[in-house]
Amino acid sequence: TPQQRICVLGATGSIGQNTLAVIAENPDAYPVYALTAYSNVAAMLELCRKHKPTIAVMVDANAATELRQQLQAEKLNIEVLSGSTALALVASSSDTDIVMAAIVGGAGLLPTMAAIEAGKRVLLANKEALVMSGQLFMDAVAEYGAELMPVDSEHNAIFQCLPPALQYPLGQQSLSDHGIDKILLTGSGGPFRELPLAELAQQTPDAACAHPNWEMGRKISVDSATMLNKGLEYIEARWLFGCQQHELDVILHPQSVIHSMVQYRDGSVIAQLGQPDMRTPIASCLAYPDRIASGVSHLDFTQLAALTFGKPEAERFPCLALAKDACWSGQWATTTLNAVNEIAVEAFLQEQIKFTDIARICAEVLAVVPPQQLNSIPEVLSLDAEARALATQQVRKQRAC
Ligand code: NDP
Ligand code: MG
Repeated sequence: TPQQRICVLGATGSIGQNTLAVIAENPDAYPVYALTAYSNVAAMLELCRKHKPTIAVMVDANAATELRQQLQAEKLNIEVLSGSTALALVASSSDTDIVMAAIVGGAGLLPTMAAIEAGKRVLLANKEALVMSGQLFMDAVAEYGAELMPVDSEHNAIFQCLPPALQYPLGQQSLSDHGIDKILLTGSGGPFRELPLAELAQQTPDAACAHPNWEMGRKISVDSATMLNKGLEYIEARWLFGCQQHELDVILHPQSVIHSMVQYRDGSVIAQLGQPDMRTPIASCLAYPDRIASGVSHLDFTQLAALTFGKPEAERFPCLALAKDACWSGQWATTTLNAVNEIAVEAFLQEQIKFTDIARICAEVLAVVPPQQLNSIPEVLSLDAEARALATQQVRKQRAC
């Protein structure tokens, strides 16, 4: 197979590092064109030594200066760019074929859109970008002929369980026309699945980030503890696969062995199984429709404990219901929810609010934002900013009590 050049947005993060680990398993197959980060110079320097990208982007200007000096001192000939506009520049460059979209949060929207508008193969980890912009995002995928590949383990599992006719172009056809009744998103329930409800309010950031099965960045780890992550994934699945409301459900599955399932009309259920290790979905997106080594071992079925399933409890996971409601209320609602959650999660990680305040603040802001049409990305970004400001006010009020 010919070489596929890659740009990794969010290279220093959990998904970014896992992507580069898969690339290292397949020497020469994926030459690294560009790596980007926000400010983590030490991690970027290490990646530059190992992967020798043509360009490294540090959004933070001081970090860029520092990286440039370090690279010069080591005689590494790598161009360093800075500022957030450089992200869109490398993501849409004619020197890259594949773009891994692995920036965390709304900051990933514009660079991901730039990759889509350049018609790249876009490996989507940054679910917030899709949740924020929904139909606009999918319309751009169709218009520019981008090849959208779901990295999120659940969506990657579903993708693998779909007939080829539904895989490309993604999200443009009806599931029922292809004999599909329902998509079942599985979720572990996170670290607080069995905690007495009365103890939820006292949970620390470290406790929320100690996921039983997956090692991930801190924002998505908190989202897993509130199960808003599953809520964002529900919205993500709606758009990626073109689901109607009755075609999408969430099932608790604490062991994270089945990564999601597709139920067909004839009673068949097709599931994808594997270790809880993101290198598997990443490798599947990189090589599709081929298969490459990921460095992940096979499941040993003789050593597997029982696989169990259940329903997420409504009182424990209020964020999940908020997200499902938002999903079918309109784009304004999911854009708002995503923005407020980012502010609330950051405040929780900074120990400014309690764990249970996250859901409360999300609900409060959703209740005051008027329903509205969002017809363009600038309109999405303006509501995003407004919702962040409202959420910040709620956080301040909470801190004052
Ligand atoms: P991390 O926090 O580990 O990494 C985030 C990356 O984004 C880092 O490279 C960081 O740079 C960069 N970044 C942060 N803020 C900005 C910004 N404002 N502008 C530009 N770059 C920025 O996150 P994860 O890897 O865990 O998650 C990335 C995305 O993938 C998220 O959307 C998440 O929901 C999704 N995802 C993650 C999974 C996982 O297993 N981790 C699983 C499924 C989906 P720096 O290091 O310099 O701060
Ligand atoms: Mg997931």
